[in-house]
Amino acid sequence: MVERRKPIPVQEAVDKVMALSYEGSTELISLSESDGRHLSEDVKADHDVPPFDRSPYDGFAIRSVDTYNAGQDSPIELEVIEEIGAGTVATKIPEANQAIRIMTGAPIPEGTDAVIMLELVQELQVEAQHFIKIKRRVKKGDNLSLQGEDTRKGTILVEKGSIITPGVKALLATFGYAKVPVAVKPDVGIFATGTELLDPEEALEPGKIRNSNSPMIEGQVKAAGANPLYFGKLDDDFETCFTSVQQALEKVDLLITTGGVSVGDYDYLPAIYEKLGATVLFNKVGMRPGSVTTVAEWNGKLLFGLSGNPSACFVGFELFARPILKRALFSQYPYRMKSMGTLLTDFPKPNPFTRFVRCRTEEREGRIYVKPTGLDKSGSVTSLAEANAFAVLPGGTRGYKSGDLVDLIHLRDGGSDYL
Ligand code: AMP
Ligand code: MG
Repeated sequence: MVERRKPIPVQEAVDKVMALSYEGSTELISLSESDGRHLSEDVKADHDVPPFDRSPYDGFAIRSVDTYNAGQDSPIELEVIEEIGAGTVATKIPEANQAIRIMTGAPIPEGTDAVIMLELVQELQVEAQHFIKIKRRVKKGDNLSLQGEDTRKGTILVEKGSIITPGVKALLATFGYAKVPVAVKPDVGIFATGTELLDPEEALEPGKIRNSNSPMIEGQVKAAGANPLYFGKLDDDFETCFTSVQQALEKVDLLITTGGVSVGDYDYLPAIYEKLGATVLFNKVGMRPGSVTTVAEWNGKLLFGLSGNPSACFVGFELFARPILKRALFSQYPYRMKSMGTLLTDFPKPNPFTRFVRCRTEEREGRIYVKPTGLDKSGSVTSLAEANAFAVLPGGTRGYKSGDLVDLIHLRDGGSDYL
């Protein structure tokens, strides 16, 4: 007898997954290996930046008061008593009409209160003495890069869960993070099920197709920031599948299977969940593609039974697996960025389920337009390559027309994925 499944709305399914108590953990890694990882702590300034008043130019540190009477026709002369480069501190304190030659990044010497740029002075050498001639009045504080002007000690600069970009690395280095606290990448096991599946290196045979889901899911897992562990493909045989799933669960945080989750004679995943004693959160979602997507929990491990149909598999991962992985990586933005866009094609047929149409966005005069990247069927594999967004078409009694404004879920990182 074919089991009847009751579909639940997409948002309810997402909420059920996110209500699971699966949490991430933290590890320390070297700064040089931290690119693209997620911070597991806030980065807080433990000192002012810059940590001292410094010169933003090559020039001369002076006492502004000495230039009070300087002008085009009344140049003043200052004696240069010392020269300091970045990384060194002046040993002398200028007195009236004395200056210190200073390079970019060097600390402002005691007794001086302004810097005049090299290009604005005339240098004179009188025997062993070095003078500069200044033809303008310099104000107190001119050309100083002040302590704390970039940030103050105690400021939270990058939130926990942020992705470590090159800019974040610069901050980590600034604050002395030789080791960086990051979220441990969740281990995500992957099985493709289906006796019809071939590996990429195998020649096509009658009735067989190549397994495209596992490499795709591997890519999606990596893009989410987690660690994929591909365990191979499984024939549609209950015992083989059961034992393999059971063993894999020992090694992973989350196990993704593709295929075998519908109600056909060789769809063994539902029986596997039952024999394991896993709690099934849902096994039917009101969406196209991917309505058979099933999520279960067993001993703190999460099982994602994605459809074997490539488009359905892709959508199932994006909607249900990615957000909980992102949360385990402490991301403050576990969901993909959303916006709205205008359809460039008609979808005349009404559908009872919400459709997630694989689309490509185009920007024209500040507005976003979308058109499908291929066949809008769950079995389509070619629509995935170019897609950078899903157009979300809620179910109902009507279709959609070109020109309709619809919700979009963006598939490329950026926006909310950064910082
Ligand atoms: P299933 O979910 O097992 O009923 O499979 C649904 C459809 O997806 C069938 O046409 C399968 O041949 C196809 N399929 C299943 N697994 C894969 C895979 N790993 N790669 C590509 N197509 C697949
Ligand atoms: Mg199958």
